[in-house]
Amino acid sequence: MYGYSREEALGQVPARLLQTRYPGSKTSAYAMVMRNGAWEGRLVQTRKDGAVLVVEGKWALDKAAGRILQVNREVTDQVAASERFRHLVESVRDYAIFLLDARGRISSWNEGARRIKGYEEHEILGTHFSAFYPQEDIEAGKPERELRMAREAGRVEDEGWRVRKDGTRFFALVVITALYDASGKLTGYAKVTRDITARQLERQRLLDLERSKSAFLNLVAHELRSPLTVLRGYLSMFRDASPERRRELEERSLPALEAKTIEMSRLVDQMVEVARLEEGSLRLRADRVDLSTVADEAVALARALDELNVVGDPERVQMILSNMLSNAIKYSPSGTKVTVILDRTRELGRVAINDQGVGIPMSDQVRLFSRFMRVDRPDSDHVPGTGMGLYLSRELARRMGGDLVLQWSGSGGSSFALLMPLAEK
Ligand code: ADP
Repeated sequence: MYGYSREEALGQVPARLLQTRYPGSKTSAYAMVMRNGAWEGRLVQTRKDGAVLVVEGKWALDKAAGRILQVNREVTDQVAASERFRHLVESVRDYAIFLLDARGRISSWNEGARRIKGYEEHEILGTHFSAFYPQEDIEAGKPERELRMAREAGRVEDEGWRVRKDGTRFFALVVITALYDASGKLTGYAKVTRDITARQLERQRLLDLERSKSAFLNLVAHELRSPLTVLRGYLSMFRDASPERRRELEERSLPALEAKTIEMSRLVDQMVEVARLEEGSLRLRADRVDLSTVADEAVALARALDELNVVGDPERVQMILSNMLSNAIKYSPSGTKVTVILDRTRELGRVAINDQGVGIPMSDQVRLFSRFMRVDRPDSDHVPGTGMGLYLSRELARRMGGDLVLQWSGSGGSSFALLMPLAEK
């Protein structure tokens, strides 16, 4: 093992010949064996050819003969393998990998654990692993429960929020494995934790989106159903009527039929536009548009003060203005005034639509332009709508280089303004 022949070795002091070192202990094995009569432990020694070897020594003192009997077994390869493995675990960055003793106290730490949980090794060794759990989980006995499940089933997997040293939370994927020695006694647990906060947030976002989508589809279905019911009602009246009655019916029902058809087309147009927006397939024209002409088309109310040319897609500008006007009317008591004001700044043409309606609570103003957002209030619960209008209108306005803004709102009413870039003279 050491490379020396019997002749070379006899009479030599072994510690000097083999350059024996005692890792982890300051006192030499010789001192120990003299005091206690026996010694066991690891040594680092050097072979004749200079190679370093790790040995497991079992020494005994033969008092009668005044000799020390040394049995040294080489374990260099095993040590190297376990050292390599320890290094591997220590250097893993994306997973917190650490050991717990049988009572759940932390007994090893790696780079990933430091990064994910924020504790340095010396701060955390010896601490009970429940330190990583939120207070409510500790109170519910979750850490203990997980150890018990690991003991019973061999391993336990869990997903949940955990706490970093600085108190912030992260969403963790955790696996705890129970460790047993050869005699079947529990020696502790291995715990691997991964920070999957980003994945969890994305999951939550998709879930929320899914939810708001189905709520939205329900709303749309509801909104389409009521004009459809009216159309169907008139159709069956027509079918059953005599020719004279038909003429009379025609006169009476045409305005309602027209209004309902417009209502449905507007809804369908809005849906198509939202779908285009979401898919990124929205194409906008950049024509020279006379805002006042479009406003005139939107409602007889809008009157041109002046020719006010902006750049934009006329159909979309029309869509935005009708939406603003219909909101102004929908969310105002009947008999109140809706005012349309056209003016310009240096770079923008503006159509402001002011109403004397219910107004928008301050707390809802921030989210007003979010997708499918509707102000929650009992007084306008019955008002039809999908929460698409403002979102779509603002998006369209912005993509045309303009904007749609809430200028003011309060108990006296609201004022929305469409701003569009002026066309060159
Ligand atoms: P909706 O289809 O619900 O009208 P919008 O996106 O057009 O959708 O509007 C979003 C919400 O903003 C509405 O539900 C409404 O509560 C509020 N809102 C919009 N315009 C006005 C207004 N002029 N006055 C008061 N509230 C308004």
